[in-house]
Amino acid sequence: MVENERLRQEMRRCEAELQELRTKPAGPCPGCEHSQESAQLRDKLSQLQLEMAESKGMLSELNLEVQQKTDRLAEVELRLKDCLAEKAQEEERLSRRLRDSHETIASLRAQSPPVKYVIKTVEVESSKTKQALSESQARNQHLQEQVAMQRQVLKEMEQQLQSSHQLTARLRAQIAMYESELERAHGQMLEEMQSLEEDKNRAIEEAFARAQVEMKAVHENLAGVRTNLLTLQPALRTLTNDYNGLKRQVRGFPLLLQEALRSVKAEIGQAIEEVNSNNQELLRKYRRELQLRKKCHNELVRLKGNIRVIARVRPVTKEDGEGPEATNAVTFDADDDSIIHLLHKGKPVSFELDKVFSPQASQQDEVQALVTSCIDGFNVCIFAYGQTGAGKTYTMEGTAENPGINQRALQLLFSEVQEKASDWEYTITVSAAEIYNEVLRDLLGKEPQEKLEIRLCPDGSGQLYVPGLTEFQVQSVDDINKVFEFGHTNRTTEFTNLNEHSSRSHALLIVTVRGVDCSTGLRTTGKLNLVDLAGSERVGKSGAEGSRLREAQHINKSLSALGDVIAALRSRQGHVPFRNSKLTYLLQDSLSGDSKTLMVVQVSPVEKNTSETLYSLKFAERVRSVELGPGLRRAELGSWSSQEHLEWEPACQTPQPSARAHSAPSSGTSSRPGSIRRKLQPSA
Ligand code: ADP
Ligand code: MG
Repeated sequence: MVENERLRQEMRRCEAELQELRTKPAGPCPGCEHSQESAQLRDKLSQLQLEMAESKGMLSELNLEVQQKTDRLAEVELRLKDCLAEKAQEEERLSRRLRDSHETIASLRAQSPPVKYVIKTVEVESSKTKQALSESQARNQHLQEQVAMQRQVLKEMEQQLQSSHQLTARLRAQIAMYESELERAHGQMLEEMQSLEEDKNRAIEEAFARAQVEMKAVHENLAGVRTNLLTLQPALRTLTNDYNGLKRQVRGFPLLLQEALRSVKAEIGQAIEEVNSNNQELLRKYRRELQLRKKCHNELVRLKGNIRVIARVRPVTKEDGEGPEATNAVTFDADDDSIIHLLHKGKPVSFELDKVFSPQASQQDEVQALVTSCIDGFNVCIFAYGQTGAGKTYTMEGTAENPGINQRALQLLFSEVQEKASDWEYTITVSAAEIYNEVLRDLLGKEPQEKLEIRLCPDGSGQLYVPGLTEFQVQSVDDINKVFEFGHTNRTTEFTNLNEHSSRSHALLIVTVRGVDCSTGLRTTGKLNLVDLAGSERVGKSGAEGSRLREAQHINKSLSALGDVIAALRSRQGHVPFRNSKLTYLLQDSLSGDSKTLMVVQVSPVEKNTSETLYSLKFAERVRSVELGPGLRRAELGSWSSQEHLEWEPACQTPQPSARAHSAPSSGTSSRPGSIRRKLQPSA
């Protein structure tokens, strides 16, 4: 127990020491290699402490056990002593009784007879005693056994005590080992702390030295800047002086500028004057060139003939049927593109026209010249003539893939107008009309059934006009196509058999081009009349009756009137019978004077149509030989043509274009348009 107490005290001392070590601060440089080692050591330390605590627990347990065993031993010794005392007492008592018994026996022997009795009694009593003695001896034996057992227990306990002593010694050795380890760790820690402290001091010294060096450099820089500042001050002074000088100059600048501007203005004015005079000269030259160009163009057209007649042969189609009737009777001349050969009733007949077109050929060139004329202020007529089914409508309207003359002429017109847009301002309007049975109808009007009249202008100017004929202003081919569609719808709703109706009537598309030359103010008006004529087949042949006959007669009349007018113009007769038909009367100003006409004679190539083909080609040849005289150019300025040989020349200048044009079909038809003044001259 004394040893235990000593160990406990030692342990307490160790703990106190450990506590002290723990409370000591960590190294000054966290993160250095020593701190890691010290952490390891600390871990080890705590492990050791843990082990020590365990050992302590075990030690106290053993102490308790030893205490308990010691107590029990003391108790057993006490009991053993009691047993021994009891045994001694019993022995004493028994030996006393034995002695008494021996004495009694001796006395009895001395008394003979009675002795015999006594002996007998003693003998009886002695057996009893002997039994008690053996009992006592058995008890004695038992007690001795117990003592031996207790001794054995004692021995065992002594052995246990010895082993616990050994354990204590071992534990003490362990504690000593731990202590030495603890001491070593402590020593190591102290060493590390020492080295860390040294490192820290070294680092501080180095940083201090570096800072001193840097400080020195900064001081040097500062000195340099100071000297620079000193040298800059004079420069600043000179700059300020310069600035002040400039300020003074700027103050005087507006005056200088004004002066300079005045002189420049004068120079520019002079230059402008020079340019102006140059421009005037150029303008004069330009006008002269313009006149010349027009003269040349006109001359070219005149040389070509004011009336050009071309023939176009349509291809043989399915509708022509089969057999000998549908065989081809028309051939072209290999060497001359103005000759066409026809085999009529077995006899070959040839015709010479201005040009003969195969079905695939385009009439673009023919149309181009006429469009140019129209823009220049001349009136132009393009007629498609021929029997029904010969391809008049195809030539005029064409298809989407192969547009006809109408589309091509309008495309050319717009593209030329576009080209000249920088110098000229053009207004283009369109009207569409039809003449059926000598009745003129508006195809774009609200009431297509209404008969229109061609009237003399009441202002005494001698102009003709058609009151109520709708006129749309258009900006592009698309606009015109919309107008066409509108007219077409009008016609389809009006007539159940449009195809038949259209072959019995003349369809007219009238495009009016009004231009103003921006630089000269020169005004021109040209009209482009695109006419899809009624079928030229003769009445006798078609064997018509009633209304059919009347229709045919009207057609015949108007077509022969057209022929007569052209013939009269050709032979320069005093009287040109324009009034003989609505068609010629309406187109009077576009046929007379220096107007240009293109007659496209359509022919069918098949055998069954040869007599109509022959008739058409004869008509074409007759028309072709006619020449329109050089007429009045429809311009208000710079008129240069002479008309003296044509008695139906106008007595006055062309009036200003009508302002009552409409811009689009949808809006234009909502109100009844006013009349358009047709620049027609009354026939003599
Ligand atoms: P018209 O107007 O003279 O009565 P169309 O123009 O209606 O005759 O033509 C009659 C038929 O011949 C139409 O089916 C048309 O497509 C066809 N046709 C006419 N000319 C040509 C051509 N050059 N190429 C192809 N087909 C044509
Ligand atoms: Mg037709």
